[in-house]
Amino acid sequence: MTATALPSRPGELNGLIFAKPRRGLRTVFRAMLFLALLAFGGEGELVSGAAAQTNPSGSPLSVTEIAPGVFVHQGAYAVFAPANRGDVANLSFVIGRDAVAVIDTGGSAAIGQALRATIRTVTDKPIRYVINTHMHPDHVFGNAAFADDRPDFIGHHKLARALAARAERYLAVNAQLLGPEAFAGTRLVAPTRGVQDRLAIDLGERELILEAQPTAHTDNDLTIYDTATGTLFLGDLLFMRHIPALDGSIRGWLALIGRLEQIAAKRVVPGHGPPAAAWPEAMQPQKQYLQRISADVRRMIKEGRSIAEAAATVGLSEKETWLLFDAFNARNVTAAFAELEWE
Ligand SMILES: [Zn+2]
Repeated sequence: MTATALPSRPGELNGLIFAKPRRGLRTVFRAMLFLALLAFGGEGELVSGAAAQTNPSGSPLSVTEIAPGVFVHQGAYAVFAPANRGDVANLSFVIGRDAVAVIDTGGSAAIGQALRATIRTVTDKPIRYVINTHMHPDHVFGNAAFADDRPDFIGHHKLARALAARAERYLAVNAQLLGPEAFAGTRLVAPTRGVQDRLAIDLGERELILEAQPTAHTDNDLTIYDTATGTLFLGDLLFMRHIPALDGSIRGWLALIGRLEQIAAKRVVPGHGPPAAAWPEAMQPQKQYLQRISADVRRMIKEGRSIAEAAATVGLSEKETWLLFDAFNARNVTAAFAELEWE
């Protein structure tokens, strides 16, 4: 995955990617077949097939086919709450000739089940890979919904350790935030395969390139590049509209952004934001935010100001640019201060 691997075509997205998902027609077609078979008292394979695809716990999620065979569900711009059942991050799946790969599974078992039901309205191919872009609950808590598919659960080689260290807290805190109904059935499913550096997986005439990144948003960020369409899945290395959340290293994140920008992807999928966006333009607001936080925190450290003063004032000029600013900005400044004061 280098800058010269693919031609960069900024601007192509505008007319191209928000095509109506195929599932609409197929769902209607299946429903008609189902009704036709019912009318004739049929109990053939199609009926049982349709029944198997209906997940009682999850009604399908809305998805956009952003490129051929690449589907993205856009999560809400929100923090965990009973009403959203943890559906606050972008969730994707990619369909090859032989198999399906899921990229992030949502913030609860219920959302994972809904995602699985959605996939089954589009394809019957086996779900062989469930990839997590990083450790955060809104990206991994739906994993359990795919356990019966017996996929490879794949993450950064540091993901297993990161989840183990936080499991108790993640489960307790998010059970509280979601409430018992939305949280029901949610458990942590750890990766069965860790990516040391780079891993290629083959879905059949379609290769995904997984790359373990150095510490940035977290210490276990993984990127996924779909060679068939030039789509780059960035997980929470890219936030759009939703304010970035820093849980790794601000220095590492800014350094990594410089390298990611060199990739000639045709489109990117952010962890939070629209289903797809043009690259590298999509990164500019987040880069500006992180540069501002970094510069202002460094200045305040130099001036001998306290971490509390920094948390109360740094980044306020960015407030209008971002949703959920009040939920994350002070926390980001505090994390950046703790990191940068030891430079
Ligand atoms: Zn995250």
